[in-house]
Amino acid sequence: MGGGHGLVDGPAALPGDTRGAQLLRRVLAGTPEGESPLTHAEIVPARDGRTTGWPEWVPESVRAPFVARGVERPWKHQVAAADRAWAGEHVVVSTGTASGKSLAYQLPVLSSLHTDPRATALYLSPTKALGADQLRTVHDLRVDGVRAASYDGDTPIPERDWVRQHANWVFTNPDMLHRGVLPRHGRWTTFLRRLRYVVIDECHTYRGLFGSHVALLMRRLRRVCARYGAHPTFVLASATVSEPAASASVLTGLDVVEVTDDGSPRGARAVALWEPPLLEEVTGENGAPVRRSAGAETARMLADLVLEGARSLAFVRSRRGAELTALGARRVLAEVDPELAGQVAAYRAGYLPEERRELEQALLTGALRGVATTNALELGVDIAGLDAVVVAGFPGTRASFWQQAGRAGRSGDDALVVLVARDDPLDTYLVHHPQAMLGAPLERCVLDPTNPYVLAPHLACAASEIPLTRDDVAALGGTAALSVVDDLVAEGLLRRRRGGWFWSHPTDRPHAGVDIRGSGGEQVVLVESDTGRMLGTVDPGTAPATVHPGAVHLHQGESYVVDALDLDEGLAHVHAEDPEWTTQARTVIDISVEETEQCAGYGELQVCLGSVEVTEQVVGYLRKLPSGRVLDSTPLDMPARSLRTRAVWYTLSEPALLAAGLVPARWPGALHAAEHAAIGLLPLVATCDRWDIGGVSTALHPDTGHPTVFVHDGHPGGAGFADRAHEALREWLTATRAAISDCECPSGCPSCVQSPKCGNGNDPLDKAGAILVLDAVLGRLGVAPD
Ligand SMILES: [Zn+2]
Ligand SMILES: [Zn+2]
Repeated sequence: MGGGHGLVDGPAALPGDTRGAQLLRRVLAGTPEGESPLTHAEIVPARDGRTTGWPEWVPESVRAPFVARGVERPWKHQVAAADRAWAGEHVVVSTGTASGKSLAYQLPVLSSLHTDPRATALYLSPTKALGADQLRTVHDLRVDGVRAASYDGDTPIPERDWVRQHANWVFTNPDMLHRGVLPRHGRWTTFLRRLRYVVIDECHTYRGLFGSHVALLMRRLRRVCARYGAHPTFVLASATVSEPAASASVLTGLDVVEVTDDGSPRGARAVALWEPPLLEEVTGENGAPVRRSAGAETARMLADLVLEGARSLAFVRSRRGAELTALGARRVLAEVDPELAGQVAAYRAGYLPEERRELEQALLTGALRGVATTNALELGVDIAGLDAVVVAGFPGTRASFWQQAGRAGRSGDDALVVLVARDDPLDTYLVHHPQAMLGAPLERCVLDPTNPYVLAPHLACAASEIPLTRDDVAALGGTAALSVVDDLVAEGLLRRRRGGWFWSHPTDRPHAGVDIRGSGGEQVVLVESDTGRMLGTVDPGTAPATVHPGAVHLHQGESYVVDALDLDEGLAHVHAEDPEWTTQARTVIDISVEETEQCAGYGELQVCLGSVEVTEQVVGYLRKLPSGRVLDSTPLDMPARSLRTRAVWYTLSEPALLAAGLVPARWPGALHAAEHAAIGLLPLVATCDRWDIGGVSTALHPDTGHPTVFVHDGHPGGAGFADRAHEALREWLTATRAAISDCECPSGCPSCVQSPKCGNGNDPLDKAGAILVLDAVLGRLGVAPD
């Protein structure tokens, strides 16, 4: 065990005789002799609920249906947030999974609609499924005077007229608001004039580029409302993240207050962090050791839990992974009792609703004991109160992890939650630093509405909705927006007149060309070659690296092999195939500094933030077996892609590296390894995926004149990740150093410094050198060694 972190040594050390602790002992008993994959275990104690009386402003007809459903008294946080909203304050409620956040907005909205026949409200959710769920709840409450209806892509045209004219609570999503409501706001005059509340549910999902688009969409909505004299109150619901009010304020452009003191009850949970051991007989890329896979470990655990009679759910990243995990568990169980094997199944997206309900029902009644699933279950499906949840691989954000973990023990019984680390530096860090999982959240929901690449299309949309005044431009995008408007005028898209800026093409609105979930460019469409079926899209920027000819591409958990990529047509032809290997693109990357906005010197260290140009060319790909062994390397001739974006970088002088004990021959490998681990750990402080960001390291960079490590945003103009990295530099690099030193491999492996997206085939990499580099950086930043 990678010592010194307050670890629990052996099963006996977990106190208590709770169900969760018992289950953990059972799971541990199944590990081979002498192996100790448990890095931490603790009982998160039960918490009693704290209730309070109904606010006086809630009318009897709104309160009664809740009381009839068993809500005798609301939880404190629900009322705290509802009171704020009722008083007209913009508020975000950020509490745990299943803490009843909906009531916080339902109370003020329903009360307002019930008492004032002229009031209206708007509800926004990131997914249709969640919106449909919330709408059903509101319908079932049957509050007098409330006419709630959905308005999305699925709403039949004749019904849309009815919704516009008669509904007073409209349930929609950002896409429909952007394409369907704001461009035709004239038809929504009555509704918008009376708008009291805007509800933004699951607002932590609006992050990165999508979040930046939605932030501008909210500013456009507010501007159109103001035109009709309405200034609605915003009520937001968020998973637990760091500083929810700050993120909600950036999202809405308003001062938002936060309610974070969770008053809902919670059953006790035994939480265990688990790191599969390194295998002795297998080696991976460049001879690196390999861990036993999280999937195999999870299958074995699931079998043990079923044997113990526990109703259990395992979250696995891909559909194929879920099926393999269920299969693995069944195989183990069949040896003990063939009947038990029938109690395990796989669950995935794509099942028919009846099939899903059947499976859910079987799990609830105990007819089924173990289910392995993809993230399909995460939002909007009603399974709770299980005995155990096993999460195979950190799902990317703490919010997702706790959402998955929340399926266990919800009804007040105690339960077991296990996080099984995958081969990944962030997973390594988390299983060795339980505070990062169990303490106050560090991860902040990051978005950047000042990105000129996002601003430009929204300013064009806004101008076509209502001509822009100088004040409008400032409100939409601050000072950055003025120069963007000038560019739009130069391109002939906007025209300057005395009253402000006008959209130049009145008959042709800009909205359809703006993809608020993507990069704004034309997406590359995945087409199944033999059926012509369209499967989905990928970002044009990453297409050369992810869907080049020969690439094995996972799409919604299904595996495909790419036959051909036509970038001019924006088409990738694929066929369903699940070969035993994966592919990894090889790239040549070049980065140049365009503008240094901030630069701080700490002796021989400099830390900077600014804009860069990254040029990337895919030159080939490797085929690799799951063991990490490379089968072969195939050259490719792909066009170079150039990206202007934001980056954070640090330089260390040559004498500083020598003083750290690094001879020049080690510099490239040490900097490269430090860069990889830093990219892997950024999601700890910002809600991003490691695929949203990239990096470059070099022993001598022409623009800085020194050995330099760059970490940059992966999208044009950036989505706030480099800025957040710069802001949280100390926490971020401290965790990076810890993740590397916590891994017990001798000289680098995928759990610490190897990266699955390295364009150089993870060569050279110097694990020990990376620690020396980071110590040199952290020492100068005044951070004491861990
Ligand atoms: Zn390692
Ligand atoms: Zn690399």
